[in-house]
Amino acid sequence: MLLIDLHRHLDGNIRIDTIYELAKQYKLPLSKYSIESLHKLVYINDQTSDLIAFLERLDYGISVLKSPKDCYRVAYENIEDAYNEELDYVELRFSPYYMASAHSLSLDDVVAAVCQGVNDGCVDFPVKASLIGILSRTFGVENCFAELAAILKYKRHFVAVDLAGDEHDFPPEMFIEHFQMVQKADLKATIHAGEAGGPENIWTAIKQLNAARIGHGVNAIHDSELIDYLAENEIGIESCITSNYQTATWTDTSTHPLKAFLHAGVKACLCTDDPGVSDITLKNEFERAERELKLTEHQLKQLKQNAKEQSFVACTSS
Ligand SMILES: [Zn+2]
Repeated sequence: MLLIDLHRHLDGNIRIDTIYELAKQYKLPLSKYSIESLHKLVYINDQTSDLIAFLERLDYGISVLKSPKDCYRVAYENIEDAYNEELDYVELRFSPYYMASAHSLSLDDVVAAVCQGVNDGCVDFPVKASLIGILSRTFGVENCFAELAAILKYKRHFVAVDLAGDEHDFPPEMFIEHFQMVQKADLKATIHAGEAGGPENIWTAIKQLNAARIGHGVNAIHDSELIDYLAENEIGIESCITSNYQTATWTDTSTHPLKAFLHAGVKACLCTDDPGVSDITLKNEFERAERELKLTEHQLKQLKQNAKEQSFVACTSS
């Protein structure tokens, strides 16, 4: 069966070797670290305290993006990594504002560079990939409009738009207008919801932001009506069990709601989230789901089938 990752942050998957090289090239503060000490700094070896502490780990990779060329490199290397992980198809997401933030790059330049890096990567490596643009809500409503404008300028390179970042302080109802624009542009929506917030955020994401899929969505487990709705309407859940452990969203993987979602017929799939800080691969996640969550062979296959059905472009072959 096809190996598909539908929830993978390109800007959460920057190689440590690349961080090291760029830091040295630009004589940035991180250049004083050895590769070994960068591993300790960037990788989350056990658990962080919460989502925000987890997200701070991503800042190390972003801190070395000093020119659009560096954004191109990161995008290109993400395709090479997907190939090396034997993924058949990947939906890579990134936040232009976040990638531009450390060195005040132009949002348009960042988006153009990432699109080109992914395109060139797909020419050189036999992997299929699509792009999802992220609105980083942590930066506020206005900056998300600027970020969306840059994404829409290059809209033919995108299949969807996502809302990520601080769910607790920036709930989905603050971004209704943004996602009306997304719908008008004929792009799909997938929303991080029910990770650091309750099931009400998932309802809002679906009903008001037109979410076709939900990122994480663990707190749907507290609302049986919502679980039925997700199943009946085939709204997928992108489950990331190691990420959920590391952000302390769901600390006991053996009881992770993914199993209950599958049992209820929800089109849940397994994804990596930020493999570059979690230090994981998608295959690791399948092994972990089997080992800790005790998913059966049939359930593991179902996860792969769901990923295929929930992908934003048609995936052919078995
Ligand atoms: Zn995510």
